[in-house]
Amino acid sequence: MTTTTQPLFDKVGFTTKARGYAALSAKAPLAPYAFERRTPQEHDVAIDIKYCGVCHSDIHQARDEWGGSIFPMVPGHEITGVVRAVGSQVTKFKVGDQVGVGTFVDSCRKCPQCRQGLEQYCTAGLVLTYNSWDHDARATLGGYSDRIVVHEDYVLRIPENLPLDASAPLLCAGITLYSPLKHWHAGPGRKVAIVGLGGLGHMGVKLAHALRAEVTVLSQSLRKQADGKRLGADNYYATSNAETFQKLAGYFDLIVNTVSAEMDWNQYLSLLKVDGTLVVVGIPEKQIPIGAASLINGRRSLAGSNVGGIRETQEMLNFCGQHNLTSDIEIIPIQQINQAYERVLRSDVRYRFVVDIASLA
Ligand code: NAP
Ligand code: ZN
Ligand code: ZN
Repeated sequence: MTTTTQPLFDKVGFTTKARGYAALSAKAPLAPYAFERRTPQEHDVAIDIKYCGVCHSDIHQARDEWGGSIFPMVPGHEITGVVRAVGSQVTKFKVGDQVGVGTFVDSCRKCPQCRQGLEQYCTAGLVLTYNSWDHDARATLGGYSDRIVVHEDYVLRIPENLPLDASAPLLCAGITLYSPLKHWHAGPGRKVAIVGLGGLGHMGVKLAHALRAEVTVLSQSLRKQADGKRLGADNYYATSNAETFQKLAGYFDLIVNTVSAEMDWNQYLSLLKVDGTLVVVGIPEKQIPIGAASLINGRRSLAGSNVGGIRETQEMLNFCGQHNLTSDIEIIPIQQINQAYERVLRSDVRYRFVVDIASLA
């Protein structure tokens, strides 16, 4: 039975009235938007949002590039903040804890994936942080807002030594790279390439370096080479130079491709060793053709990966805490969100925009 525990939250001055920025349609720029959060339940954590990262997926969805977008849409799934209140049955968090919320806020909890801690692959009811239907049939609204209510099982703990602004991008960009790096054994003696030095890519370089793999950046140009080396890359090549593909043929154990633009994946498969894997995390709008020979020669694999489960996301956050590892960010007030989107589209960000939610006040 679900009971309403709003009185508990009222006592600490929590209100369901929220403010944020929303897209009202695929063509509209984001603008101020007032809305109601759901009434907190006994297992819920009410969070005052402090920062929210700007993921390229926010732009894809706000502009309905994947189809089926739900409007009005408050994007944002790289959320950090402070616990304002907890329901009577919450055991994992207390008022004042620094916490995070990533790309999903609930799942079915019963399917084989949920039982294994792979909630992101839930087949029976994954609830995304925004642009999704919650189990109470309300549209979820994301982190470009001042507060959020989330079941404690889907809230993450941010290590105390990490700042809330630069750790916000860990909740999507960080876990999206950590999960495939771990799954395909990035580590000492392994040669890893990261394609695209953007929000996801720069986290890939930092994490693969911290895992002690040999890291190579494959970027469109050498424009960001000095940054790539500073972030931990051992090698840096421009993919606009055809010689790069000849020189690196058969070189890598693992390539993680973060690019959402159309590109020839066959070319990247040719850079893998025997048994190497190309993991796609960037999401192009169009289908990309693959030649059978690209896979057959060298028993190569083409794979994909979607963020990470709650358990692995917490593991990643703890790993980042131990290594003092966060994102390189540019903080913006929410009023600059539309200009920030344009800059992301021009690859003009080093390396993640993070919205300072105090700017909503
Ligand atoms: P981003 O910051 O825009 O980075 C993408 C990078 O791709 C750019 O910095 C650029 O790097 C490269 N790039 C851009 N245009 C290109 C082109 N025409 N040809 C070749 N390379 C190009 O985006 P992001 O936030 O990292 O997200 C990247 C993609 O991952 C998006 O599609 C996003 O939706 C998706 N995503 C997937 C997951 C998942 O779980 N699978 C999670 C989050 C995001 P260089 O300048 O270095 O070439
Ligand atoms: Zn994201
Ligand atoms: Zn499930």
